[in-house]
Amino acid sequence: MENTLKSLYNQTPLFESKPLSKLSGKKILLKMECLQPTGSFKIRGIGQLCQELIKKGYHQLVSSSGGNAGYAVAYAGKKLGIPVTVFVPKTTHPIFLNYLALEGAEIKIHGDVWDEAHQAAMEFVIKTHSGYVPPFDHPSIWAGHSTMIDEVIQQGEKPDAVIAAVGGGGLLCGVLEGLERHGWQDVSVFSVETAGAASFAASIKAGKLITLERIHTVATSLGAKRVANRLFEWSQKRLITPLIVSDYAAVSACRKFVDDHRVLVEPACGAALSVIYDSNKINAFSEIKSILVIVCGGVGISIDLLNQYTAQLQNTT
Ligand SMILES: *Cc1c(COP(=O)(O)O)cnc(C)c1O
Repeated sequence: MENTLKSLYNQTPLFESKPLSKLSGKKILLKMECLQPTGSFKIRGIGQLCQELIKKGYHQLVSSSGGNAGYAVAYAGKKLGIPVTVFVPKTTHPIFLNYLALEGAEIKIHGDVWDEAHQAAMEFVIKTHSGYVPPFDHPSIWAGHSTMIDEVIQQGEKPDAVIAAVGGGGLLCGVLEGLERHGWQDVSVFSVETAGAASFAASIKAGKLITLERIHTVATSLGAKRVANRLFEWSQKRLITPLIVSDYAAVSACRKFVDDHRVLVEPACGAALSVIYDSNKINAFSEIKSILVIVCGGVGISIDLLNQYTAQLQNTT
């Protein structure tokens, strides 16, 4: 494949948010992963894994994610000239089906819940000898995500702390790998989950990996019942402080971020931003003067959907 060495991701802007710095009394740096061609950081790691699978000789790629991970596989496959099949449950939001179709991916709608779509995907992988691309649990994905920290260093900033949202933990594993590679073990790390998807916080508390029975959150990109084992291992090796925010806080942060920076992100990303917008949460950062927020992005949002979430959550709080 002649173009396997081409980078599939963008170097993203890093800048200080003056509105958020003023609000929090700290220097808030934003790593704008929402400006990746696929609208989220996922293309970094997933692009890298797709390239490796092609080098290994796979002629077809398969994903079972009806979210930003599936979209990243579809995008990478199209760029690299290899067919992609994505298995998704019936509940997949049309926004994602649209983006998958735009990349020419074959979409197979299977079952009512993700587990059923995933099961069908695994059978298909075995039958067709395809390369399976998981959403977060793979060393190549972590290595790919870690390039965002390489960029922060090139861009000339060293924060006291990093805040990143956690779903399955692929993003945070990448951040931790990047910090370690550059000897930045002294940078404090904060993970953020919404209350209905806090599998990592539960695992830290229990001292072992916890599998949630169910997920209930509008931050659908954080909806992993169990985080990667690798993330749990990191938490045993270095301090990671898990934060939990409400769906309402995550959605409110999305709205405020539109006003402050004219950029629309998913509630999954709003969750990370909400820590800065919430004066109670920011008090936990007393000694910390500068914070890097990974603006992870996500395409699963629109003005209508944001308004819908806001109305829905106002009624429940
Ligand atoms: C996937 C995703 C996350 C969570 O990433 P994990 O690697 O699963 O922890 C957060 N935000 C957005 C927008 C995502 O697409």
